[in-house]
Amino acid sequence: MAETSGKKPSLRIIVTAAVLVIIIATSYAVFFLGGDQWGKTAGEGKISTENARIPAQSAVSGPAAGEKLQVVTSFRPITLLVAPVGGDHITITQILPPGADPHDYEPTPNDAVALKNGKVFFYDGPFLEPWAADLAASTNPDIHLATFAEAIPGPAYDQMKRQNADFPNLNQDPHLWLSPQLAEYYVSYVARQLSEADPEHATDYQSNAAVFEQRLVHLDAEYKAGFSNCTTRTFLSSHSFLDYTAAAYNLTPISIAGMSPDAEPSIQQMVAVVEVAKEHNARGVLAEPDEAEDLSKSISAELNLPVYPFITMEILPTGTLTPVDTDYVAIMEKNLQEMKKAMVCP
Ligand SMILES: [Zn+2]
Repeated sequence: MAETSGKKPSLRIIVTAAVLVIIIATSYAVFFLGGDQWGKTAGEGKISTENARIPAQSAVSGPAAGEKLQVVTSFRPITLLVAPVGGDHITITQILPPGADPHDYEPTPNDAVALKNGKVFFYDGPFLEPWAADLAASTNPDIHLATFAEAIPGPAYDQMKRQNADFPNLNQDPHLWLSPQLAEYYVSYVARQLSEADPEHATDYQSNAAVFEQRLVHLDAEYKAGFSNCTTRTFLSSHSFLDYTAAAYNLTPISIAGMSPDAEPSIQQMVAVVEVAKEHNARGVLAEPDEAEDLSKSISAELNLPVYPFITMEILPTGTLTPVDTDYVAIMEKNLQEMKKAMVCP
């Protein structure tokens, strides 16, 4: 956190000043125009984005009668995991717009407006969204911060680390959402956070979470069964988004670009990737269709391996989304099929 503010000393000041201007402008716009021009289109199924119109309230425990709980999420997988738990009782405003990459996102004044009106802010953690806590503190100190990273209980993490020494460090690898097992922990955590913010609907949040958890348990079983008889347990990935998943199912990932899709590996690193891939008999490359295509393609050409599309969910696509595009489990089932192809699993 200190590193980030060191790199961008003026960001908080700019954002804070801009927030004040925007809040005043918004108040006028809402008051005089009744407009929703500050709302952002999340494009995620039934999620609406009306919270910029909610007038300032001093509700201490939960939303006023008949109003939905205003929830803010940082980026797409967080939205996809929170929405089924909140159901009809919440309104979600997602901060990252379509096309934005969470690995290098810079917040805008509009994001501060979203946070200003929110009761709970769900995000991945300080590693992926180093701007989140500061922006929330300067905009809406009352908003409750809830990270995916803190959803994993310490003893459960220790147990996973004991079972696989390669299990990543929660503070160094943000790709928690791509492990069905970690998603299970997250969903019950989301239910607890929503119940605290809106106790009136706690029973519904718990039962929504229970239904979703059942689907995740089934998904985990599908992953286990899917990898039971593969030609190789090694695969290449365009950046290292599957290290938690690999640790959970005893697979060996070789990442081309490192932790972020923007990292540019040196020639030596590329040579090392090719060597390790050959040594481990890798049979395919998994790559987010939009990212690191040149890198993935040059490595796959060098090794004569096919590239399979993998949906990391990191970037909200532009355009119309189908129900399957907004269902975490459906996306992960698609990803499983591509992983099986990459490791030649029958
Ligand atoms: Zn990533």
